[in-house]
Amino acid sequence: MNMIFLGPPGAGKGTQAVQICEALNIPQISTGDILRNAIKNGTETGMKAKSYMDAGQLVPDEILVAIIRERLAQDDCANGYILDGFPRTIPQAEALEGIADIDLVLELNVSDEVLINRLSGRRVCPACGATYHVNMLNGSTKCEKCGAELIQRKDDAPETVLNRLKVYHDQTQPLIAFYEARGKLKKFDGAKDQQEVYAEIMEAIGTNA
Ligand code: AMP
Repeated sequence: MNMIFLGPPGAGKGTQAVQICEALNIPQISTGDILRNAIKNGTETGMKAKSYMDAGQLVPDEILVAIIRERLAQDDCANGYILDGFPRTIPQAEALEGIADIDLVLELNVSDEVLINRLSGRRVCPACGATYHVNMLNGSTKCEKCGAELIQRKDDAPETVLNRLKVYHDQTQPLIAFYEARGKLKKFDGAKDQQEVYAEIMEAIGTNA
């Protein structure tokens, strides 16, 4: 099944996508991760994307559409996938219609207040990618999985978080109506407990399979 995760930054898309992809044995395709890797590796795409990302702005559509076109052509996508963080604009969604058949769009809805708290308290491991909230760390600054020093993503800084939420409301939220009109949207309350949301999503996937 080909699926999209839609929702504001910090709604839990990444966390849910990892778990669901593991259960279904399909790839999670996070455009944010692809772009962060491109920056780390100093590629041309990475160099073009960096200033937009640091400011919490969207990277231009043509760059993202090229990334997704290439990624979805790979063999591991043959049995389905979850897109996490793409599409984020109507032009991206329109371009995607010419590239792939999407079966289901999962929307995670969370209030701005909860998101601001989640994102500004988020810490990530630069070595293994694990994600934490400062409230879970009891003052520790090290990754519980691999021991590396945790960092705050540049775009999780408080002023950038507000900007990302504005960008979400202005440019990405219209996708909800776009996919609703196509009868593909299922909504979930992302403020609920993570495992509860996971169970609800798995049930929705099961009834759509
Ligand atoms: P994320 O990890 O999904 O929050 O993405 C981090 C940043 O990568 C975003 O704030 C954007 O700057 C950029 N990005 C990721 N996916 C997209 C996309 N589909 N369109 C435009 N920019 C994107």
